[in-house]
Amino acid sequence: MSPLIDRHGRTKRKLRISLTDRCNFRCTYCMPEHPDWLPRASLLERHEILRLAGLFVDHGIDQIRLTGGEPLLRRDLLECVREIDGLRERGLARLSMTTNASRIAPKARELVAAGIDDFNVSLDAFDPETFRRLTRREIAPVLDGIDALADAGATMKLNAVVIRGDNEKDIVPLLEWAMARGLPLRYIEYMPLDAPGQWNRSQVVTEAEILDAIRVNHRVDEVPRGHDPATPFLVDGHYPLGIISTVSHPFCATCDRLRITATGELFTCLFSPIGTPLGARMREGVDDEALAVHVARAVWLKDAGYASRPGPVDRPLTMHAMGG
Ligand code: SAM
Ligand code: SF4
Repeated sequence: MSPLIDRHGRTKRKLRISLTDRCNFRCTYCMPEHPDWLPRASLLERHEILRLAGLFVDHGIDQIRLTGGEPLLRRDLLECVREIDGLRERGLARLSMTTNASRIAPKARELVAAGIDDFNVSLDAFDPETFRRLTRREIAPVLDGIDALADAGATMKLNAVVIRGDNEKDIVPLLEWAMARGLPLRYIEYMPLDAPGQWNRSQVVTEAEILDAIRVNHRVDEVPRGHDPATPFLVDGHYPLGIISTVSHPFCATCDRLRITATGELFTCLFSPIGTPLGARMREGVDDEALAVHVARAVWLKDAGYASRPGPVDRPLTMHAMGG
């Protein structure tokens, strides 16, 4: 079936599926302290998730990342993973998950066995106090989760959002801790995707500033980049570091990603003001052919990206509901 291409000539290969808007953390950069959860009945059921995932795989998506909210809060998570894993015979090449890891310890082995190829674990600070301030939760269960993933032989990397006045002092300690553990790390510039009105450009610690902090004690070399949104570097000649610099150097020109929210809205860009309600269409009874037309049209109209409209997006949807 025809691949999904947008009007800027970018073919889509990666899909992020949010399994839930619920989360047991309250990261300040992601959601309000007292969020309004989406009505439970509006969240996609497992068979709806599988139907959408299959449709996208049939149209050239070969990498799926499960996210949220916190995917571990979904009771039928293992079944979701097993069913999506079954799409490998239709062309799925990689199945990944992004998690805060706080509840993953008892399920780490089962998730690997069910088909998760690699995990991104969010860890913004190694200092417990800083971690608590940013996430409004404790670090210990997250470190246990990381240990459990390592024991299960999982492939993982760490993701850390850096915010001025919050955790920029942790840049080097976190890097050195991750280096000692042999865990690849990616720093992420703070993006305007939090509760409306909170983000401020002055809070963004840019790629250049992150590199300056690291270069005080370490050698950092740039390496040729592929399709990953992170700029790749080698620290001290051997350790892989990535920086996602969406704000200071948007990397939208070759964007191959799409996102589906927990209610089945297709967002072709993190910064799109509106989505395409595939979940609602499915519940109205449209067939796969009609659904594919909605998808192809939305993808074709995808915006150029963050560079074309920098700054906060006017929409009542924070990152936990969008699916990071
Ligand atoms: N709960 C899971 C987790 O935290 O890994 C998955 C969902 S979370 C929304 C996915 C990613 O989005 C996390 O790595 C988080 O750091 C990132 N994120 C959330 N809000 C962000 C923001 N305003 N700017 C940059 N990254 C953000
Ligand atoms: Fe939850 Fe992840 Fe958002 Fe933190 S970043 S509040 S863990 S969804």
